[in-house]
Amino acid sequence: MSGNITFTMIKPDAVEANNIGPILSMINKAGFRILAMKYMRLTKEQAGDFYAVHRERPFFGELVEYMSSGPIVAAILSKDNAVADYRQLIGATDPTKADEGTIRRLFAKSIAANAVHGSDSNENAQIESNFFFSHLERF
Ligand code: UDP
Ligand code: MG
Repeated sequence: MSGNITFTMIKPDAVEANNIGPILSMINKAGFRILAMKYMRLTKEQAGDFYAVHRERPFFGELVEYMSSGPIVAAILSKDNAVADYRQLIGATDPTKADEGTIRRLFAKSIAANAVHGSDSNENAQIESNFFFSHLERF
């Protein structure tokens, strides 16, 4: 299973803009299957724990405020080479630098409100999936 999953969130800006459907459609069309999914709002504490690796970065406070500002969709996605293929589908962190046709280029509002999260390694895909879902919630 390692290497076949990644973890994503549709972030508050994309949920607010009514883009859950179009983003999930792009995810499915790119060949990812959904193994688990939930709609929820993060507390500040949960958002801070999820992004703990960025604790010392200047944008951390704003990131926590933003990620807890409204509901998100969290999901585990499956596909061969899931982590790298999904990073390619979402595009660069800064949407002005993201390739044409990527999810962030199409839907992100700014470098902070950039529509989606995607895991950056197989190890983090497992850690992030476990942060949101128990084994009983996965298919
Ligand atoms: N972020 C930000 N300002 C920055 C860099 C990142 O607000 O200068 C936010 C943005 O929402 C990003 C998240 O912090 O998605 C995590 O940053 P990371 O460098 O891990 O980018 P990602 O892996 O999401 O592309
Ligand atoms: Mg990252």
